Amino acid sequence: MVYNWLKSVLSFVSGRHCLLCHHSIDELADDLCPECQHDLPVVRQACQQCGASLETGFLSHCGNCITAPPAYDRVFSAYGYANPIRQLMTAYKFQQQLSLAPIFARALLARIKQPDSRIEALLPVPLHPARLRQRGFNQAIELARPIAQAYQKPMLLKLIRRKRNTETQSNLPAKHRAKNLRGAFECLQPPDYKGVAIIDDVMTTGSTADELARTLKLNGVDYVEVWCVARAHPKNNT
Ligand SMILES: [Zn+2]
Ligand SMILES: [Zn+2]
Repeated sequence: MVYNWLKSVLSFVSGRHCLLCHHSIDELADDLCPECQHDLPVVRQACQQCGASLETGFLSHCGNCITAPPAYDRVFSAYGYANPIRQLMTAYKFQQQLSLAPIFARALLARIKQPDSRIEALLPVPLHPARLRQRGFNQAIELARPIAQAYQKPMLLKLIRRKRNTETQSNLPAKHRAKNLRGAFECLQPPDYKGVAIIDDVMTTGSTADELARTLKLNGVDYVEVWCVARAHPKNNT
């Protein structure tokens, strides 16, 4: 009883409220109340390579990864890309809610736990300079910062340049996206690392991660993972 009383005093003093429903929360380490945490979209059965949700738990890989595997080796996503994560992501990217970055990073750290020993460095997906000017920040870099700090890994911010502004491709059908992205990235110097984790906010078709991983591997990287906050189910691709 004293403990419950103490918890409510702490939540009052700390002024911590659930990000989604704004009810006060007791656990100082949490950002969402237990009810909202329960409602978050999780991918229960994911393809071990591309992270897309699988219909059954019998297979380790989806049909796409068996017939035409992507250039990256493994995907970790904290959530599926559905509401309320979709709403929070929109607030993060388009309404400059940068305080969400460490919250998303914490969710991703909880999902990855102990990173594969081959991962030596983190590569936030580069933005085209025109897009960076428009948005004012690179959402992948802000996400990567607390992760790099937690795992004590360097961030590769000058390794790869985005040559073409392909981000408007969300209107394109999936098969045209991959084509549109070919040659979109350029490696500016030989990578010093053999294992790299690409950091991204949302992974939809995976074309961007695929092209980035292809560019890394063409330049001597052996092993590439993708760490994203949310992974869309291929059927939901927009
Ligand atoms: Zn809540
Ligand atoms: Zn797959």
